[in-house]
Amino acid sequence: MREIQTEKITETVRELCIRANYFLPEDVFRALQKAEASEEKAVAKDILGDLIQNADIAKEKEIPICQDTGMAVFFVRVGQEVHITGGGLSDAINEGVRQGYREGYLRKSVLGDPLERINTNDNTPAVIHYDIVPGDRLEITFAPKGFGSENMSALKMLKPSDGIEGVKRFVLDTVRSAGANPCPPMVIGVGIGGTMEKCCQLAKVALTRNLEEKNPNPFYEALEEELLDEINRTGIGPQGFGGGATALSVKVETFATHIAGLPCAVNINCHATRHMKTII
Ligand code: SF4
Repeated sequence: MREIQTEKITETVRELCIRANYFLPEDVFRALQKAEASEEKAVAKDILGDLIQNADIAKEKEIPICQDTGMAVFFVRVGQEVHITGGGLSDAINEGVRQGYREGYLRKSVLGDPLERINTNDNTPAVIHYDIVPGDRLEITFAPKGFGSENMSALKMLKPSDGIEGVKRFVLDTVRSAGANPCPPMVIGVGIGGTMEKCCQLAKVALTRNLEEKNPNPFYEALEEELLDEINRTGIGPQGFGGGATALSVKVETFATHIAGLPCAVNINCHATRHMKTII
């Protein structure tokens, strides 16, 4: 067994929280540049230029890309040969969030109870998804999620007879009704299959994919390209002012499902699609 101290995990998470909120992933940055280069509408081109400049300033001055520094979402792959020492793994991650959000001057946006609505003032608790995998390493992906875009996301339990056309219709309807609210250009994560909760998780995982990596399955690669094309024909455009760049990318994740169902989830992200991964 390989031992990993909780102090090491807390320190790693602290760094992830700060860095992911300051530094836009390179693939997202390049996607914004590409969108700006091909945008034909003047206002849209200007907005994309502003978003690129915003990301540049955040990087140079080491300040948050957006004022909404998100609810802290983690995907943690725990090697089954790893032994965590010094306390609980979830406690260590939450302590890293606490320290990172305080020391990085990141906005604390989390309420302890959804109806009492009292801020916990340290951005905890985090939402943590665990996966037990072979090996002796701990892989932590941090993806802070702003709620301008999270609020526009949706799940639909489609019928099997709805088929691929039903999936396309639902994705496009969700994007159209989101309009300018998720701060476009968006990144669209689509989950297809599984159960209700698995489907939503697939859509969120899709948002952590590298925008420049094609889907390994040619069928879903074609679906991603078709959906992106259709979404960019809606005319919503950057920040909703019209134009061609409504979305930067569409990513689809799938899982086995039941004979009686076809769940589909759409998780929308914004131009500040932030995520960062580290391996201990
Ligand atoms: S949707 Fe994204 S860009 Fe818009 S306020 Fe939220 S985090 Fe910021």
